Amino acid sequence: MKIVDVREMSVPLVPSGANAVVSFDSHTVSFVALISDQRRNGKPVMGVAFNSIGRFAQSGILRERMIPRLLATPPDRLLADSGIGLDPAKVLEAIMAGEKPGGHGDRATAAAAIEMAVWDLNARLRDEPAAMTLARAAGHARHATSVSVYAAGGYYPAGDGKADLQDELARYRDQGFTHFKIKIGGLPLAEDLHRVQQAVDFAGDGACIAVDANGRFDLDHALAYARALTPLQLRWFEEPADPLDYALNATVCDTYSGSVATGENLFSLADVRNLLSFGGLRAERDVLQMDPGLSYGITEYLRMIAAVEAAGFGRNQCIPHGGHLINLQVVAGLGLGGCEAYPSVFQPVGGFGDSTEIRDGQVHVGDAPGFGLEQKASLRPIIEQLVS
Ligand code: MG
Repeated sequence: MKIVDVREMSVPLVPSGANAVVSFDSHTVSFVALISDQRRNGKPVMGVAFNSIGRFAQSGILRERMIPRLLATPPDRLLADSGIGLDPAKVLEAIMAGEKPGGHGDRATAAAAIEMAVWDLNARLRDEPAAMTLARAAGHARHATSVSVYAAGGYYPAGDGKADLQDELARYRDQGFTHFKIKIGGLPLAEDLHRVQQAVDFAGDGACIAVDANGRFDLDHALAYARALTPLQLRWFEEPADPLDYALNATVCDTYSGSVATGENLFSLADVRNLLSFGGLRAERDVLQMDPGLSYGITEYLRMIAAVEAAGFGRNQCIPHGGHLINLQVVAGLGLGGCEAYPSVFQPVGGFGDSTEIRDGQVHVGDAPGFGLEQKASLRPIIEQLVS
């Protein structure tokens, strides 16, 4: 088999709010379609993916560097040893040809869009959910049929910022969520603590609430928040400071007895190894949030999981950033600790299939082939435009 065409399209996110550092109003996502020469029901089999949420489309890198490299690679050099589909690692190697090591920035998300489309293609060739394809790659007998999920919200709204946090969390509870995450760092400490306390009061237990500073704090602020948050016994304190400042992260871990979560802004295996070596994270306590869609795709993510386990952590401590259908399949397939969801933001890509059931904090993993992106009505016109 071979890839006969590759399409890319930049899709804007619907404006929806801000965290302590950035507004998402200008964010875009790259959708990629790999069109194969294989046919099912009279149509070509395709693999479709996008490069996660929270950054930008990478049309330039994809169109000028990676897509031409992929199409120029002899098709037999990309085939999977299983005889079905392509080898994602070989595709990643092909699209990274000529790229120097290090400097894992926007190209990591560009590569991820193509690499993850390979997993979608392979799953569709087998007519199975991508979670099953991933489980097989991880050496598991099958994938999880439901996974733990939490609602990520509590953003700082535009304007006067007076949106009622408890009303928002009540909407999430009505949708089946039991665990919630809210942003911190966008207001003075006392006002932020009031917000966090409101959330804890709503949930009835600090263990149901996580907070996310999006890397905003310097050392003094990180430690001030760590001390103030400790008595609340939260589920976790996420990205207190710059994601690459491992020494600062280690200092927070020394001060904060609860769980610290980080990793969504690490884009390579080397960065994860450095975090594990120097970031002060504690096995059986802290949470790793690397997102395959931001970090060269699932091939690199599998290498990260291996490094995490080699460092004494469990894969149940991996809860990827990125609440969408692709990462739901990744979590279910690889047996990870849980999945994020954005019930009201990052549309059209945030969230799961329109009929996906969330109940008691668990999300059901559907059996549509591939990542099942067509299960979300808002994605169907995008995919149709992409491949037309
Ligand atoms: Mg975060």
